[in-house]
Amino acid sequence: MSVLVFVQIKDGKATKAGLEAASYANAISCGSATAVVAGSIEADGGIGSVGISNVLAYSEALVDNSQIAKLVDAAALKVGANTVVFSANLEGGAVAPRVAIRMNAGYVAGVTGEPEGGNYPRNVFSGKAKASVSVTADKTVISVTPNAFGVKDVGGSASVEAFSAEVGEAKLIVGEFTPTSADGSVPLPESERVVSAGRGLKGPENWGIVEGLAKALNASTACSRPVGDMGWRPHHEHVGQTGVTIRPDLYIACGISGAIQHLAGVNQSKVIVVINTDPEAPFFKAADYGIVGDVFEVLPKLTEAINTLA
Ligand code: FAD
Repeated sequence: MSVLVFVQIKDGKATKAGLEAASYANAISCGSATAVVAGSIEADGGIGSVGISNVLAYSEALVDNSQIAKLVDAAALKVGANTVVFSANLEGGAVAPRVAIRMNAGYVAGVTGEPEGGNYPRNVFSGKAKASVSVTADKTVISVTPNAFGVKDVGGSASVEAFSAEVGEAKLIVGEFTPTSADGSVPLPESERVVSAGRGLKGPENWGIVEGLAKALNASTACSRPVGDMGWRPHHEHVGQTGVTIRPDLYIACGISGAIQHLAGVNQSKVIVVINTDPEAPFFKAADYGIVGDVFEVLPKLTEAINTLA
C-alpha cells in the first residue's frame, strides 16, 4: 500500500490531529508513508517522531480547501499513492472528499482504527453502531476520527523536500484571524480531557468552578446546547448532535441531564463521569462513574483534591 498523509501545521509544527493522521498512515503503510504539508515548517515539524521518513513541503500556508485538495492530489501523483489519509477534523473533513473526487477514490470518513481484512472500522448513527467499510475502488481516501487512534511516538526524524504544485487561485482569503480562546487551549475535538456543564450551573457567573476543575485537570471546557443558545458560553463549546463531536479520554458532565442529542456528541468518550443532583438523570446510564450531588459542592472539592494530588 502506497500511502500519503496530509499533516496540518501550526507555528511550524505538526498539530496533534496531524500527528494522529500521520501515525495512522505510518501504521497502515508499515512505515513507508510520505507526508505533505502546506506552510513553513521548523525542521521536520515533529512528523518524523511518528515514523514518517519523508515530508513534501509546500512553502505557502493554504486556507482555501480547493487549493489544499489540488496540492494533496499533486503530491499523491508524485509519490504514486493509492491511499491518502487526513484527520477527520474541520479541515480534513472539507478537503478529503475533494481529493477523493479528484483521485476517483473511495472515501471512508471518520475511521476509528486500522483496517481488518481490508475493512475500515467507523462509528455510525452518532456512535450507536459500528460499521466496517471496504472500498471497491483502486484508490482510497480516509479520514481518521480525532483522538480515536492516538499519536504513536516511535522516535525518529524525517527528511523534508520542497514541493511545488499548481494549486490555482484562492477562492477565499482570510482577512483577520482571532482565536476564540485567548489561552491557546487545545481545540475541543483534539482535547484528551473535557469538563462540560449544562443548565444545572444556573448562570454564566458560576462558570468559575467549571474552569477551575478544567484547569486542575489540564482539560478543555464544553457545554450543552441550551447553555450556548442562552449565551452563557460561546457556541463553539456546544457539544452534541448539533454541536461538536468529541472523543476525549475523560468527559466530566456537570449539571447536564444527558438528553439523547447531547449524548450523540460525547458517547464515544473513553471514560464518562456524571455529576447531577437527580439520581434519575438519563446521563447516569451512560456514565462510567456517577456522583449524585450538587455541582456547587462537588466541583470545588474535586478541584481541591486534584490540586492536592498534583
Ligand atoms: P437540562 O435538561 O435542563 O438539565 C439540567 C440538569 O442539571 C438536570 O439533569 C438537573 O438535574 C441538573 N442539575 C440542576 N441543578 C444541579 C446542581 N446544582 N448540581 C448538579 N446537577 C444539577 N443538546 C445538547 O447538549 N447538544 C446538542 O447538540 C443538542 N442538539 C439538539 C438537537 C435537536 C434537534 C433538539 C430538539 C435538541 C437538541 N439538544 C441538544 C437539546 C437537548 O434535547 C437538551 O434539551 C439539552 O441537552 C439539555 O441541556 P442541559 O442538560 O444543560 O439542561
